[in-house]
Amino acid sequence: MASADTLTTPPGSLDAFWMPFTPNRKFKQAPRLIVGSEGLHYDLADGRRVLDAIAGLWCVNAGHRNPRVSAAMKAQIDVLDYASNFQIGHPAAFTLAQRLTQMAPAGMDHVFFTNSGSESVDTALKIAVAYHRARGDAGRYRLIGRERSYHGVGFGGISVGGIGRQRSTFGPLLNGVDHLPHTLDLARNAFSRGEPAHGIDKADALEALVALHDASTIAAVIVEPVAGSTGVLPPPRGYLKRLREICDRHGILLIFDEVITGFGRVGSNFASDLFGVTPDLITTAKGLTNGAVPMGAVLMRGAVHDAFMHGSVSAVELSHGYTYSGHPLACAAAMATLDAYTEDGLIARAAELSPYFEDGLHSLRGLPGVIDVRNVGLLAGIELQGWASGLGTHAQAVAQHCLDESGVLVRSVGDTIALSPPFTLERRHIDQIIDSLRAAIAQTA
Ligand code: PLP
Repeated sequence: MASADTLTTPPGSLDAFWMPFTPNRKFKQAPRLIVGSEGLHYDLADGRRVLDAIAGLWCVNAGHRNPRVSAAMKAQIDVLDYASNFQIGHPAAFTLAQRLTQMAPAGMDHVFFTNSGSESVDTALKIAVAYHRARGDAGRYRLIGRERSYHGVGFGGISVGGIGRQRSTFGPLLNGVDHLPHTLDLARNAFSRGEPAHGIDKADALEALVALHDASTIAAVIVEPVAGSTGVLPPPRGYLKRLREICDRHGILLIFDEVITGFGRVGSNFASDLFGVTPDLITTAKGLTNGAVPMGAVLMRGAVHDAFMHGSVSAVELSHGYTYSGHPLACAAAMATLDAYTEDGLIARAAELSPYFEDGLHSLRGLPGVIDVRNVGLLAGIELQGWASGLGTHAQAVAQHCLDESGVLVRSVGDTIALSPPFTLERRHIDQIIDSLRAAIAQTA
């Protein structure tokens, strides 16, 4: 029988589990196992307690084992374990959907539930293509992504995604996909605070793609408002607005992938709020349930949803959905998480802490090998000069040093150190993270 011991006892062998996005052979020679969590901290199998400066994987925004979330999940499991939302339903999914529309930017009136960011992305892309078809505009099939973007691992997501090595491994991807240029410009924008000043012109590349492919073939553009996994890249000032204008001009849907930036990470409910640009669809996951159980959601404008309700000739307006869309346990976790964000004031807290976080981060400027610091809200990237030993080796060495020498867990993405701490942290924890990085950067130089 499974027991709490199963969670903490070192496994006999590490061989069976093929770990995701992990150098398995290397990891298994020197495994790092987490056996517990509380608030801002993880407990490691070797007895150490470490500060989690990345909120798990950019998801535990309200702190580990948040009491509201744990209590709601425990209560739910004793009432209703599972109910399908295919042609029957349960109340919590409807309540949660309504609540999300109240929290989302004005006009985002409808919600489709998924179980992950990847599923949210594929769902949004499918809705975008089907939307045009429902309106009798079936020629619009083309999807536009952006270089250096990450949209999860579905075939749709990697097709619009902009990470070469993830795309090249999996053969021909979706037909009819093109990409905008990325917006990172170290020469002009290094050490910007928030939105960099230069690069609005990068949005004009969309006009060039329209000229190339003709607007009548383009269904949607998808971007992360702040690219996360490719190094934390805030949008140049005015860039998102210009994308919105070009999309409007040509009848193209705009999708913001807010899997990381949603639910307070940038100091407002959504990055769409912060940057004052409302897309047609928003993809979410991660912070929706505080990472406690998988769930994603696609939010969309009324007009997108209504095209199906008015235009569809079949009884099932969209042939799409997952066994676990709107799972009761996930709904309970999400509702409690939203309570934590709003009633406990955690999103406001993220916004309040941001300037202090920003000052701490930018105090690292001038250290050897630090070539850029980028930040929005409680999301940051510190880019390091790459080493000849290979992409990412510098940042990995710094991250390892932080963990081993000062008990702070940070994440390396390429040669950037990414930070996304839980919003429950205090100034002293920000100091601890910055001190840890300062020492690691100096000593690995
Ligand atoms: N989209 C973005 C912007 C992400 O950052 C991620 C994950 O990091 C995903 C999609 C994929 O989410 P998941 O890993 O839950 O499938």
